[in-house]
Amino acid sequence: MVICYRRWNICYTETKIKVCMIEIDGSYGEGGGQILRTALSLSCLLRKPFRISNIRANRKNPGLRPQHLAGVKAAKAISQATVDAAAIGSTTLTFNPFTLKGGKYLFDVAEERGSAGSVSLVFQTISLPLAFAGGPSNVTIRGGTHVPWSPPFHYLAGVFIPTIEGMGMVVDAHLERWGWYPMGEGIVHFSIKPASGGLKGISKTDKLQPEEVTAISAASNLPEHIITRQKRQLLKRIFENTPRRATEGTTVSCEEITAPSIGQGTFVFLRVRGGDSYAGFSALGARGKRAEEVADEAAALFLSFLDSQAAIDKHLADQLIPYMAMADGESKIFTAEITLHLMTNIWVVEQFTQARFHIEGAIGNPGIVTCLPELRAKS
Ligand code: ATP
Repeated sequence: MVICYRRWNICYTETKIKVCMIEIDGSYGEGGGQILRTALSLSCLLRKPFRISNIRANRKNPGLRPQHLAGVKAAKAISQATVDAAAIGSTTLTFNPFTLKGGKYLFDVAEERGSAGSVSLVFQTISLPLAFAGGPSNVTIRGGTHVPWSPPFHYLAGVFIPTIEGMGMVVDAHLERWGWYPMGEGIVHFSIKPASGGLKGISKTDKLQPEEVTAISAASNLPEHIITRQKRQLLKRIFENTPRRATEGTTVSCEEITAPSIGQGTFVFLRVRGGDSYAGFSALGARGKRAEEVADEAAALFLSFLDSQAAIDKHLADQLIPYMAMADGESKIFTAEITLHLMTNIWVVEQFTQARFHIEGAIGNPGIVTCLPELRAKS
């Protein structure tokens, strides 16, 4: 007979006591790479081993891609884990962390060929455990800094990091070199100090009232007029539309950046601040996409966020889930959209912790996420 106590992650068998492997089905919900990243992060933090099958089963190229393998290697390094079957294309792996170790690390997402990879997704995997590693860490990550389907560096630095700092994290990020798709090769330096007071719950339920919009129009190794045209169009869209949606007196600025990089790319980013709440909206250029379209795309995301009346943008919402689970108080956020990504992330967190989430709203609509965290649920 085997009795498993999930709360303590311990199994009693007739002859011995052993730590249980948490079984994760990587095809659950969205069935993408986030399941693996969140599992790695919580496994390191809580020292709970897991086995994941069907990795990225719902993606058209299932299994580990270089991006995900880079996350596994980073998590392994900071937790001195033993890892089985982690190779490009693997659809199953086991991860058994030993002990967390802060310090100096260098991770190169492009170590495995075939992807610019995303610096921010590696950071997303290791930031929470490193804050509880007992000492400070200095982490350099090489790879894509402004690539599709991941938080651009400026989103991390201007939206995600200030928000988690409000919960008790102490993080600094410095962009040395920009990395665009497909070449990558960007360089970011992070410093993560111990969250010695633990994490506080977050409460963001009131509409974000924009007081300040700080935008960026950037490009690397492309004609300068692209930067100017993106900026002109962005400001046009904001001033055309913002007065009827935002409060009077919102200050708006846009910085033109000729971005140091060995690749080529263009980028527009809008960061909105209201009190100590932040949201971010971005668009990347592509061959054949006009500078004005790039600006329009970012502006449209910003304006639709204002229309949602929400406090938190949809990306920040999914990224905060593990932090909410590990806080020592209740959290409540009003997100612009309940996404499948968010729901899937909640499911992963619930496999590793006693935290319990309550959702008001339907997928695709604005909604409220409440979290009764691990510590509260245990007490
Ligand atoms: P895959 O299996 O294809 O690798 P994934 O599940 O790893 O997919 P995505 O669904 O693409 O990854 O999401 C990755 C993370 O990046 C999520 O936390 C998401 O919120 C974030 N993200 C994606 N685009 C943006 C953006 N424009 N701004 C901020 N964050 C973003």
